[in-house]
Amino acid sequence: MSELKILREPSVDSVLPLRILDERSEISFFEQVLASHDIPALETMGIEVLQVNLGKLCNQNCHHCHVDAGPDRREIMTKEIAAACLLLLREADIPTLDLTGGAPEMNPHFRWIVEQAHGLKRRVIDRCNLTILEAPGYDDLPEFLAAHDVEVVASLPCYLEENVDRQRGNRVFQRSIAALRRLNQLGYGQSTSPLSLTLVFNPQGPRLPPNQAQLEQDYRRELRSRYSIEFTRLFTLTNMPISRFLDELHQSGQYETYMQKLIEAFNPATVDGLMCRSTLSVDWQGHLYDCDFNQMLDLAIVGDIPLHVRDLEASAIERLKRRRIVTGNHCFGCTAGSGSSCQGSLQY
Ligand code: SF4
Ligand code: SF4
Repeated sequence: MSELKILREPSVDSVLPLRILDERSEISFFEQVLASHDIPALETMGIEVLQVNLGKLCNQNCHHCHVDAGPDRREIMTKEIAAACLLLLREADIPTLDLTGGAPEMNPHFRWIVEQAHGLKRRVIDRCNLTILEAPGYDDLPEFLAAHDVEVVASLPCYLEENVDRQRGNRVFQRSIAALRRLNQLGYGQSTSPLSLTLVFNPQGPRLPPNQAQLEQDYRRELRSRYSIEFTRLFTLTNMPISRFLDELHQSGQYETYMQKLIEAFNPATVDGLMCRSTLSVDWQGHLYDCDFNQMLDLAIVGDIPLHVRDLEASAIERLKRRRIVTGNHCFGCTAGSGSSCQGSLQY
């Protein structure tokens, strides 16, 4: 195929701002690549996961953060918007609530949201940075999560201290290990317990992640022998060329090389499993997106659907479940190599 010739086409400036759309002649470059593999423009296949961003406040300030979160951010979802999300969860019969941030636990309504979703018998995921479990004022958080069967999905980009601290900040590794030990003591990650503890790896810098299954074995061996830590599974994620990581790419002059690497590694077999096909993402203000990354790029959903969770009426829910997905060149981050999503690699 001659696709790599086309693939060189976008200039540095045109790679991120995308063009969406409805006219065949105006489709995004990503969609042109899909079309070159006889794959139609992306559409959703229902909503399995409601991913809710509870705000940008975080106790950490990681280099690669695609949310631009940090201790100085003040954007926080209100209880009113959270209640609208819970209503949608119930009315649209969405099985999973995926809570993210920032550090979602720092939202003052976090525990109320978890209790409500647990009461609705939904699967609840907490995307946890681990160090929040060791922060003052959050001492009983692990017990709270366990009592409500919350699945913990936790960032740990390496089993080596220096690598984690370089990416996520001083002493993050040791505090993460302390948090993992507490989770293990409660049953998280133990084969004898249903409490699920997933670790998340992302590469240091502009590289694709290694094979997930193989890396999981390395993590298991090293964390067990060095720290006696157990976990359920490992997810590998690709660093998306947006937000803080994008700034880093530009500053280090590696942006174009990284984009080309993602584009050249396009894998059509990942497309069916892309998370946007079964996810609805809500930002801290209640606006709706196809995924967390589109949220960060301010690319709202399209179609004859209200753009805010508060405005959704029952009649809009079916249209919401079957909608055209907004794509752009950042989507090459999800389709490169084995693929990447909030559920880890898309091919094993
Ligand atoms: S812990 Fe997560 S949300 Fe917080 S700064 Fe790091 S990557 Fe961003
Ligand atoms: S960034 Fe990934 S999840 Fe989001 S719309 Fe693109 S392919 Fe889908």
